[in-house]
Amino acid sequence: MTAQLDAPHDLVGIGIGPSNLSLAALAHGLPRQGAGELATAFYEQRRDFRWHPGLLIEGATLQVPFLADLVTLADPASPWSFLSYLKHKERLFPFYFAEQFHIHRAEYDSYCRWVAGRVPGLHFGHQVDAVRWNPERDLFEVDFTQLDATGEAEALGRTHTRNLALGIGTAPYVPEPLRPLADAPTVPVIHSADYLDNRRRILGAEHVTVIGSGQSGAEIFLDLLRARPAGRERLTWLARTPSFAPMEYSKLGLEHFTPDYTRYFHSLPEPVRDQLVPAQWQLHKGIDADTIAAIHAELYRRTLHGGWPDTVLTPGVSVRTAGRVATTKVELHLEHTEQGTRSRLTTDAVILATGYQERPLGSLLAGLDPYLRKDSSGRPRIDDRYRMVLDPAVTGSVFVQNGERHTHGVGAPDLGLAAWRSAAILNTLTGKEPYPQPDRTAFTTFGLDQREHTRPRPAGELLPLVDHP
Ligand SMILES: Cc1cc2nc3c(=O)[nH]c(=O)nc-3n(C[C@H](O)[C@H](O)[C@H](O)COP(=O)(O)OP(=O)(O)OC[C@H]3O[C@@H](n4cnc5c(N)ncnc54)[C@H](O)[C@@H]3O)c2cc1C
Repeated sequence: MTAQLDAPHDLVGIGIGPSNLSLAALAHGLPRQGAGELATAFYEQRRDFRWHPGLLIEGATLQVPFLADLVTLADPASPWSFLSYLKHKERLFPFYFAEQFHIHRAEYDSYCRWVAGRVPGLHFGHQVDAVRWNPERDLFEVDFTQLDATGEAEALGRTHTRNLALGIGTAPYVPEPLRPLADAPTVPVIHSADYLDNRRRILGAEHVTVIGSGQSGAEIFLDLLRARPAGRERLTWLARTPSFAPMEYSKLGLEHFTPDYTRYFHSLPEPVRDQLVPAQWQLHKGIDADTIAAIHAELYRRTLHGGWPDTVLTPGVSVRTAGRVATTKVELHLEHTEQGTRSRLTTDAVILATGYQERPLGSLLAGLDPYLRKDSSGRPRIDDRYRMVLDPAVTGSVFVQNGERHTHGVGAPDLGLAAWRSAAILNTLTGKEPYPQPDRTAFTTFGLDQREHTRPRPAGELLPLVDHP
């Protein structure tokens, strides 16, 4: 172990996805209390920045306008905006004429890699293993493993910081009955997150089943459909939801992704919040209407000269169990919930578009456990300034980015709130207001009693931690 007793940072970020990259970009060059600039360091286990590489399907776009880049909704004049990236690449005029509000996912990835290559203090190939509070030094200790190009441990290190920002994101979720199959390398059962790496193999399969009716499932079904010959598609798309439902995208519906709604949600009692998140599934789990239209158009095109595409699209179906048949085929045991019927499906490849789950904090934060205040379900309490509620003996803050859906609602993973959340964190951290934020962000007034969730006062001095139930 190379224990470095280095000068402590003001902020260490764990994970460099869009959330913490936004924080790093907005923190760059900010003055700290006292003199000098804010000292920050961010650690990411991957070798370099990659945004969902398995799902950069040709033609797939962001579900949010390009204004939801890493910085613009907090600071449109930032040098790290998407428009600055286009200027740097000498592509502003083509973009202007393209009139594209929803940019290609691959372009968003390139933009983020451009920022990640320029903002200082980002350390890739560093996996953070543990975090502790050191009461003698009033600092957090952060232990990491430096990884080589193959992902093997190369060296161990430690750094110290006054504050932390967790931005470890989500990991692919595989339902219990399918886990043994997904773990067996010989069977072509893959999570949608690995789609592009396996696309050629999947396209070679005689019959393919896609499970899951979210955006990823729809995009993969469409991509496979377009690549298979008419009349010999041999594709099945199954969903547990009662329909292939569109994502809510009405103007007032989108106001659920505003700071106003986030504050309202945070002010609600825990049981109400817990009921709301699953009830609002159509705000984030449905399919973008353009993708649904493209699927329908492609299916329709295949009927123009008579015949019918060899596809099955069935919602309302859950997979009870699954097993291998010989070494290459998979048998899925299905149940239709509304009909109460069961059947079996033999297929040659399965794509699990079954979503993602917040990465567990357990082992990473085990050293902080005695200081963490938790809710009735054992989840960390997070105050209205994105800080974990800690024992008052801890003088530093642990900020949470995209791990606060239980306290801040459906907007937690949304790219449209990332810059705003980063700005809110930096306003709190610096005790000044480098990024002034508007009082109102929605035309909807959420709730009758506004006192519970008015905007936190401009910083200047830190507010006491809100120990919300
Ligand atoms: C395919 C796809 C498309 C999406 N499209 C949109 C969209 O159009 N609009 C929208 O609003 N949202 C979208 N989302 C949702 C969301 O915006 C993204 O998931 C986004 O990547 C979240 O960013 P993040 O930084 O919070 O987490 P992540 O992108 O998951 O990044 C977290 C990072 O932390 C790293 N990490 C984890 N643990 C450690 C550790 N211990 N040490 C070091 N590093 C660690 C991981 O390697 C990872 O790189 C999409 C999600 C997916 C899956």
